[in-house]
Amino acid sequence: MTAPFVTERASPLVISFPHVGTNIPEAIATRMTADALRLDDTDFEQPALYDFAEALGATTVTARWSRLVIDVNRPPDNKPLYPGQWGAGLVPTETFAGEAVYRDAPPAEAEIVDRRERYWRPYHEALALAVARAIDRHGHALLWDAHSISAVVPRLFEGTLPDMNMGTAAGEACDTAISAAAFAVCEAGPFSAVLNGRFKGGYITRCYGQPARGIHAIQMELAKTTHLGADNRVDETRAATLRPVLRAAIEAALAALAALR
Ligand SMILES: [Zn+2]
Repeated sequence: MTAPFVTERASPLVISFPHVGTNIPEAIATRMTADALRLDDTDFEQPALYDFAEALGATTVTARWSRLVIDVNRPPDNKPLYPGQWGAGLVPTETFAGEAVYRDAPPAEAEIVDRRERYWRPYHEALALAVARAIDRHGHALLWDAHSISAVVPRLFEGTLPDMNMGTAAGEACDTAISAAAFAVCEAGPFSAVLNGRFKGGYITRCYGQPARGIHAIQMELAKTTHLGADNRVDETRAATLRPVLRAAIEAALAALAALR
């Protein structure tokens, strides 16, 4: 079974969790380094953080496989998301910390093609179907792509990342009335927030966000310090502050989406 976990619900909201998977097929895991197998770059606990998804009627699409197997938030041709900057590719060979993923040679092209068919494509089939069903029901959809990252990753950015990093492909993936409504909520809360800063949205945001077709996509990249403890589990004290802001931001986006019609 290589498809992601899908819970279908009836609102126009689809929440995607592309980097939460921790499964690695045995034949691949045996070739990986101990550093890689810590799975540090996983977006831990995002579904638990978004525990209000059911209350909002959101359809959720949740990755089963680790991003180290193949990254579903990268384009299938592995074109860089941020040209000129270091980035983990479609099949990462180094972690964010610069550790080798494979003990010996990294996967050759034929294996990458095989992983794309086996693990990448089913995620996108499920996500595309979830969005299509929302469009069928409502005529429009809000795709919220949920991520987290360490607040300090020298290979990816200087200094400390803001708490809430919203990306809409610089405005191309989402009507500005919707992103502005969500971002206003983020900015008004106790967290630092930035729109289309270092993280403008990955492949999912850029590919699916098509405002002219009624599909509005927002990537939310949260600093892990806003909701996780040192053990990468939800820190309930921190999460209790963040959750109402996140939920209100999504509700504001949904209200703006409804008002567009
Ligand atoms: Zn992520």
